[in-house]
Amino acid sequence: MHRDKTKVIRIGDRVIGGGNPILVQSMTNTKTENVDETVKQILALEKAGCDIIRVTVPTKAAAKAVSDIKKRIHIPLVADIHFDYKMALLAMKNGADKIRINPGNIGSMDRVKQVVERAKKDNIPIRIGINSGSVEKEILAKYGHVTAEGLVESALNHVKLIEDMDYDNLVISIKTSDVMMAIKAHELIASQTLYPIHVGVTEAGTIWSGTIKSTAGLSVILHGGVGDTIRVSLTGDPVEEVRVGIKVLETLGLRRRNSIEFVSCPTCGRTQIDLIQLANMVEERFGHLKYPLKIAVMGCIVNGPGEAKEADLGIAGGKGVGLIFKKGVVVKKVTEDALLDSLAEEIQSIIHEREAS
Ligand code: SF4
Repeated sequence: MHRDKTKVIRIGDRVIGGGNPILVQSMTNTKTENVDETVKQILALEKAGCDIIRVTVPTKAAAKAVSDIKKRIHIPLVADIHFDYKMALLAMKNGADKIRINPGNIGSMDRVKQVVERAKKDNIPIRIGINSGSVEKEILAKYGHVTAEGLVESALNHVKLIEDMDYDNLVISIKTSDVMMAIKAHELIASQTLYPIHVGVTEAGTIWSGTIKSTAGLSVILHGGVGDTIRVSLTGDPVEEVRVGIKVLETLGLRRRNSIEFVSCPTCGRTQIDLIQLANMVEERFGHLKYPLKIAVMGCIVNGPGEAKEADLGIAGGKGVGLIFKKGVVVKKVTEDALLDSLAEEIQSIIHEREAS
């Protein structure tokens, strides 16, 4: 897959752009001022594999909390600023590794300049975050409504504004909840800038619909070689955002798989076991394993092993019995109630074998 060679930008101890691995971001939904709650959520996100975390900084207390939070977490922290440039200054003073602003809602040029000058002092990257609700009136009038072209024009105008202040430690995001518009906007902007792009479909929805919209949009955009960081925006626990983001990258071959990949058949008239329950039980029991194994859960012993022979390991359920197979070859026949424990044993033995070799 082609990857755009974007400018390399350092965020805390992570590096993005220039073909470096695409990083997964999320955003806390706690009150940033509540340091304990915010740290607790960030640590859970780190455990899920989050690479960069963003927190909202709407108040002085939140800006001050940035330094306390940073002492207790292990990933770079991005301060999200809306309207009040003073919060950007304070967040940077308190150690934010990056700030996200929309220069259009910061106010006068003088205020934007103060933010940029402070960022320059510690070489703190600025993400220029444009979304469909923030496109300027003149641009909307030019195109008639929110368009991919308008989003890109707005973002590049802001980039130019900051470049004219002699600063180019920048990341860009252009977000809309319209998947097709997002795809077009990312194609357009990638052809016009070398700054790293943070990609996401904003306000994508609940875990179910948001996962589908985000996956559809991200897949096309990332497959086109565009994107240096991603966020899956979901109305739900941010840990879900990270889990989905990582899976998207793994599925597209953009991140080395370090988890179990599950395969299960759709069931049919031959199914002789409650496969829906079995597949869910397998995913629940083994889904946390940080190991690159492909496991199949199949609904009949006649066709199951053959249909899933690309899997490292699989189970096929029959009437009261089940088979364990490796790469399509049956290695064990067990009673139905022993299937999960037998699968666990086989997983352990594969892990031991691989680690010993
Ligand atoms: Fe049907 Fe068996 Fe194929 Fe599952 S594995 S879809 S039960 S034939």
